[in-house]
Amino acid sequence: MKTGDASYIKQLNRKILIEEIIKNISLSRSDLARITGLNKATVSAQVNDFLQEQIVIEEYESASASINRGRRPIILEINGKAGYSIGVDIDATHFSVLFMNLKGVTFDKFHIEIQFDNLVNVTNQLIQTLTPLIDKYNEMYQPLGLVGMSIGIHGIVNNQEEIIFTPKQEWSNINMKSQLEEAFETSVYIDNNANLSVFAEQVFDEHISDLFCITLYSGIGLGIVSENKIYRGYQGFAGEIGHMIVESHGLQCACGNKGCWELYASERALLEALQKRHPTLSIEEAIKTETNGKVIHDYLEYLAVGLNNIINIFNPEKIILNGAIINGNSPFITDITGRLKSKMNNYREIRASKLGEYSCVLGGAAFAIKNFFGIDTIDFTAYDNLIK
Ligand SMILES: [Zn+2]
Repeated sequence: MKTGDASYIKQLNRKILIEEIIKNISLSRSDLARITGLNKATVSAQVNDFLQEQIVIEEYESASASINRGRRPIILEINGKAGYSIGVDIDATHFSVLFMNLKGVTFDKFHIEIQFDNLVNVTNQLIQTLTPLIDKYNEMYQPLGLVGMSIGIHGIVNNQEEIIFTPKQEWSNINMKSQLEEAFETSVYIDNNANLSVFAEQVFDEHISDLFCITLYSGIGLGIVSENKIYRGYQGFAGEIGHMIVESHGLQCACGNKGCWELYASERALLEALQKRHPTLSIEEAIKTETNGKVIHDYLEYLAVGLNNIINIFNPEKIILNGAIINGNSPFITDITGRLKSKMNNYREIRASKLGEYSCVLGGAAFAIKNFFGIDTIDFTAYDNLIK
């Protein structure tokens, strides 16, 4: 036995216990011992630590719930009020920001227009926007205050969390992590928006170990959770699927290539095509008018071509599509799956996201909470407190 094994095991047990307390919402010490297989003394010693750190609260179960059971058991829960995290999504024209308590409950969220082109000014705008809110919420969420923050970037972020390139703003080789960590005095994680989106799907809606999510807003991104981890590839660039070429002599893309998938199958491409063809109609009216028309037909066709490629490469169990239009038009999904008839590929389900446009910030805030607790997975699917 190596020295240090005891503290390693203690750390491991801590992880297991926190994961179970989060997942089960509320449970007793003996429930915890039963579920984890740890002995009661170990559970009690750890729970006492959690109580001291104030990350867990312990109270008598309400009288009504235990009326037929004689003695009222003492129930443990994560202390939602002990601290909070922040998710930020920096898109081409606006930030989305979401504040989440330690139980995964969103208590504030908003969009704000970006006033600048270069990332230095954008970073300063972010700091100026968030600082007074963090001061306010740090007083309300005690004793921990802000426990971490994630920033979703619509572009390539490497394994060192540096922004390598964003096609829309043309930001390249920028490290905003240390500046933000200094400004906010907390851990800051920089990640690709599709990675944070698929993480949100796993945490809040579909807690399976392998999951794919394709975001279809201004561009197209693929986020992959594989064996409960965000799959990042060799340097962190995995999932830049919007720049998969689907037309070899096609439209010119900001990435330098021609015919990239997102120029045909992102919702921005669809909106532009609809507006061009029906300049006087609202988007909803244009979609209705085009239901059996060329614009929607071409869009769904291109979407299916890309999905076919993804399915052939990965053989995914489940793919979640997330876009403002696709989320509200379930016949589109039926249409797309109807086009995926290859005998060569297989998947279990393709469906629309229930989390919608806030998925990146939800995932970002949850990712910061996961890292704060030092746990491997975080499961808020049983909580009925989301997306209000
Ligand atoms: Zn491209």
